[in-house]
Amino acid sequence: MLIEFVLNFLFPPICVSCKKDMQNLYSKEEDKWICNLCKKRIIKFKKAQILKVRNIYYNKFVYIFEYKHIIRKLMLNYKFKARPYISNFFVEIILKDKNLCRNILNYDIIIPVPMSRQKLKKRGYNQTELVAKGISKELKIETENLLQKKENIKTQSSLLKTGRSRNIRNAFYIEKEKVEKVKNKRVILLDDIFTTGATARECSKKLKEAGAKDILVLVLAKD
Ligand SMILES: [Zn+2]
Repeated sequence: MLIEFVLNFLFPPICVSCKKDMQNLYSKEEDKWICNLCKKRIIKFKKAQILKVRNIYYNKFVYIFEYKHIIRKLMLNYKFKARPYISNFFVEIILKDKNLCRNILNYDIIIPVPMSRQKLKKRGYNQTELVAKGISKELKIETENLLQKKENIKTQSSLLKTGRSRNIRNAFYIEKEKVEKVKNKRVILLDDIFTTGATARECSKKLKEAGAKDILVLVLAKD
């Protein structure tokens, strides 16, 4: 408590969007990252249209936001500022969209794009997995980490767009004993940011090879 007090004194919590001081605005620590006004503003940017795509591995695609302006700031906070509770914001937005929920319920399982063990240890949470769990809990749809990521794969965002496809090739795998869980399933592959699509393609490829029937790629933000 004391340390929290000192930290709040030195770095008072401010809204990630408008920089308003939030120290005395909300009582719960996890509400002190964005003010209600900015939250309402952001919700207006929601897209969430189900798009049919011609991709050999997945056939539907939906993104909740475009990765720009405040959404970009928000994602950076979510991923790099030790703020796992931002997952609740995305879950809430998804659950409020009835059309999107109806579509989600056509699937059997949500599989989040994994992080390497090394990176997970460093960050302490997988932002994609937290959103998957939130949706799973409310909509009673299964979720499981059936994909794994190999160690020592360079971060996609650290590379130029042209090198990303090569970097991510064969970076993911499904453990032998888990293949059965994917077979004949309608799968939602959940990722945080979609840039070149290389990660979604590569993960879907592995899911298809394991026998997934139908894949919807759901991303929080599209660059
Ligand atoms: Zn604000």
